[in-house]
Amino acid sequence: MQRPLQEQSVAYFIERLNQTFDSETIYMVVDESGLIQYASDSFMQLTGHHGHLVYQNNYERFVYGHESSNQVWLQGKDGSAVPYMKTSLEMNEDDVSETKLSILILQPTESAYETYSYIDDRTKAMNKRALVEVMSKYRTKPFALFIVSGMGEELSEKRKELHSDHVSTYVIGERTWACFKTGEHAEKAVLDMKEKIRASVYPYECTIIHMVNDGVIAPDDLLEKAERALEQEREGEALIEEALRSTLESDGFSLVYQPQVNLQDKTVIGVEALLRLEHETLGSIPPLTFIPIAEKRGLIKEIGYWVLNEACKQASLWRNMGIKVRMSVNVSPLQCRDKEFADRLSVILDEHRLPPRSLSLEITEGLLLFEGDHVLEEVKRLGVQLSIDDFGTGYSTLSYLKHFPVDALKIDQTFIRDVLVDGKDEAIVTSLIDLAKRVGINVIAEGVETEDVLAFLKENHCNEMQGYLYCKPLPPEQVVHYFGQDCCDQLFSE
Ligand code: C2E
Ligand code: MG
Ligand code: MG
Repeated sequence: MQRPLQEQSVAYFIERLNQTFDSETIYMVVDESGLIQYASDSFMQLTGHHGHLVYQNNYERFVYGHESSNQVWLQGKDGSAVPYMKTSLEMNEDDVSETKLSILILQPTESAYETYSYIDDRTKAMNKRALVEVMSKYRTKPFALFIVSGMGEELSEKRKELHSDHVSTYVIGERTWACFKTGEHAEKAVLDMKEKIRASVYPYECTIIHMVNDGVIAPDDLLEKAERALEQEREGEALIEEALRSTLESDGFSLVYQPQVNLQDKTVIGVEALLRLEHETLGSIPPLTFIPIAEKRGLIKEIGYWVLNEACKQASLWRNMGIKVRMSVNVSPLQCRDKEFADRLSVILDEHRLPPRSLSLEITEGLLLFEGDHVLEEVKRLGVQLSIDDFGTGYSTLSYLKHFPVDALKIDQTFIRDVLVDGKDEAIVTSLIDLAKRVGINVIAEGVETEDVLAFLKENHCNEMQGYLYCKPLPPEQVVHYFGQDCCDQLFSE
């Protein structure tokens, strides 16, 4: 089929351009409103973009710099900024009819002083000035932004990875970088990315703040606001860190215990130890708040060993009273990274003369992914049990069930909560129970709050349950009252 005249002549024009420029030079054909009609292979190679993401997009999405300056930069595949000199030529009327097209020629340069002021020296990524500049172009349009602060290698890898998803990042401080999304769904896109980052690095490695442009606030003010929010979050963390340190020093932590009930023989088969922090000025701080901070600020190991020791001591005390319940202890992935972990665990067990089999460590799925199997193998060799906590919320761990020596999985309470109203949750819970049975491990339902859910779990042959329905986490002297058979019988009456 004959192509329209204009298309034909553009093709011919491009052919000529291809012959004219060396392979380093980038050029684009753009229309009157700046939309890209053609970009050279050299552009695709440098940026890693593909045609469909480039064509009909404004070239300013890819070519950064001051409007008045011909010194610009592009962002390479890994996020580094690469300086170019820009020349813009209107295409000849003879070459192309109808629409007015122009061609942008970008030649590599090393002497673009102006461009370098937009580049972060250390990482070669775009810097804060570049971010403000780009944001100001979108001043009145919807956009969202998040800034990430943290050290880990994984986090900077994450920044580079975002570029393969065609997202620009800006290094705005020594340990801080930002990411910026435009368009109607900017906020959702930013929230999704935030979640992705959080899920792929440990919480201790980053603090993330996100902001949405309301079309009123100036870009640099918005950025400043985000940075201030980040600072506030850090200050809040510092306060809790101080509370954690002083509590450690004064031996002020305590443990509460929540029974785990065997649904077959209707007895309390174990307890989970849960850490509590009651601070004299800050009041009671929930573990979901302070554990990530303890991880981030390097206190989790010491706290973790305190918990292990205290829980084993309690288990041993109960054993001496003739109460033989399995003791489950939550262990942070970071604590398991300690090379001495298995050795210290073994010393603690010996000290309290606790049979290793009566201790179970609850680990989250993330640990399995990051750690390889050796820590877990060592722990297993001691005879201690392992269970996967919050199963189903982290990474897909089905293969771990095959490769790791896991004794139990705990179905996360988010699935249990709505199991009777949400068909998907029901499908997930029944499948997980089935899965656990098939691979021959124990399955525990967390967060059971109602009789109906309990009945459902019994019907579906779940092994154990834990939740407010039977008992909230309680101090040791109170929880013992729930160990008796009559308490359990009440749970199963009718
Ligand atoms: P987790 O290990 O999944 O613990 C279960 C959480 O669910 C506990 O919250 C418990 O109080 C709560 N829970 C139990 N039954 C119900 C119920 O029926 N309904 C509802 N809504 N909640 C229920 P808690 O004590 O606030 O602990 C939160 C998380 O903090 C734990 O989740 C665990 O990840 C972490 N954590 C607690 N203690 C420690 C610890 O000593 N070390 C470490 N590394 N993490 C800990
Ligand atoms: Mg747990
Ligand atoms: Mg859990």
